[in-house]
Amino acid sequence: MRFYNTFSKSKEEFIPQNPPTVSFYTCGPTVYDYFHIGNARSFIMADVLRRYLEYKGFKVKFVMNLTDVDDRIIKKSIDEKKPSHVVSDFYANAFFEDINLLKIKPATVFPKATQHVSEMIEMIRELEERGVAYNVDGNVFYDVSKFTDYGKLSGKNIEELSAGARVEVNDNKKNPLDFALWKKAKEGEPSWDSPWGKGRPGWHIECSAMSSKHLGETIDIHAGGNDLIFPHHENEIAQSEAAHNHKFVKYWIHFGFLNINEEKMSKSLGNFLTAREILKKYSAEAIRLFFLQTYYGGPLNFSFNLLAAAEKGVEKIKNLAEKIESEIKKDDNIGLVPDFNIKYYYDEFEKVMDDDLNTPQACAVIFDFIRSANKIISETESLHVSFFIDLKKFLTETAENVFGIIHFEELYKKSAQLDGKLINLIIDLRTKLKKEKNFLLADSIRDELNKIGIELKDGKDSTTYKFK
Ligand SMILES: [Zn+2]
Repeated sequence: MRFYNTFSKSKEEFIPQNPPTVSFYTCGPTVYDYFHIGNARSFIMADVLRRYLEYKGFKVKFVMNLTDVDDRIIKKSIDEKKPSHVVSDFYANAFFEDINLLKIKPATVFPKATQHVSEMIEMIRELEERGVAYNVDGNVFYDVSKFTDYGKLSGKNIEELSAGARVEVNDNKKNPLDFALWKKAKEGEPSWDSPWGKGRPGWHIECSAMSSKHLGETIDIHAGGNDLIFPHHENEIAQSEAAHNHKFVKYWIHFGFLNINEEKMSKSLGNFLTAREILKKYSAEAIRLFFLQTYYGGPLNFSFNLLAAAEKGVEKIKNLAEKIESEIKKDDNIGLVPDFNIKYYYDEFEKVMDDDLNTPQACAVIFDFIRSANKIISETESLHVSFFIDLKKFLTETAENVFGIIHFEELYKKSAQLDGKLINLIIDLRTKLKKEKNFLLADSIRDELNKIGIELKDGKDSTTYKFK
């Protein structure tokens, strides 16, 4: 398996430190608002990468942090006149609801920043002792000039980066690129006691402290959106490597932006749609398929037309899945076992996924599989149940378990609900017939239902049914 590593800027063979375990960290949300569909792209692609590693037999320890103390949360808490933790709890819950609706598997751990402040303080002390952090009147900064590799991930040197940095007056930093590790408390803000006085941690130190606590000092995969490469991930490297003195991350994997009208979708530009809004009109499966049909690292333009096309794609998978379920129920063991090379599809799926998670190609393999299966079904009178069991196994292992674009269980639930509604409808009609003394037709309905495995029981006031 090979991935494009942002650090080396090349595709590299994936070799985790302690196979079959894979430690995987991804930057989670800052919980001050509902997340937008651009954020959903990163969360879903990280989810698919994790699921594919599990498909390959790895045991993935997947950690996604929640930033629950931040300038934007504080601003919202002032605007809404609510305590900061009320705002962050509300949006943390909304985040969990939304990822559940998007069928994203929960992380092994979802650490919250406010529950790891002591670890962050410890790490900042370590950096201060090593001479890479300095305290200016209760604000502690990281001195980027002390970290020779600074800029390696983003591929820039300190001079280039400094030229583009915004120089803020009055913050007393030595270098405009130096960043806050600890922010002195302001009136009314959430704060914690520390060796530098009351304050709160900076954003970057959160990820360094939480990843080392939950995954160790060197992690296999660190993922996140492209916009986090600089400065966030660059700063995480500077902090973790200066504090621990060895490599922080083996593979850096970054997801492309979701653009809208050729512009990056973002909260600050105000050109965003929340995942919640989109989920009212499109299924989670369609949203996932829409993302999977583009290479994860490249940009993708948001389009309702493409979402609608993805919904049609999902319908195709569902139609076949429903056919499979009904055929498995029939359990035909005398029909034809067709010549269908299922191994070819597994091989193709793995070949393209192993090559830097080529999900658009892998989707093409799945749709090719569906076309071939449908062709056999339409051309063959009677097929052996083992054929349908094989089809279900392939779709479950790829389209369901890795991509999350079909869910057999739900199909079952839905069709069971529909069955129940239809049977009750027939029972009501039959009751009317009996009232009209049309016993002949009423009895014949009962007998016909019996033949297809549904037994009616006429009680005193009502009729119930059960499957035989
Ligand atoms: Zn992070």
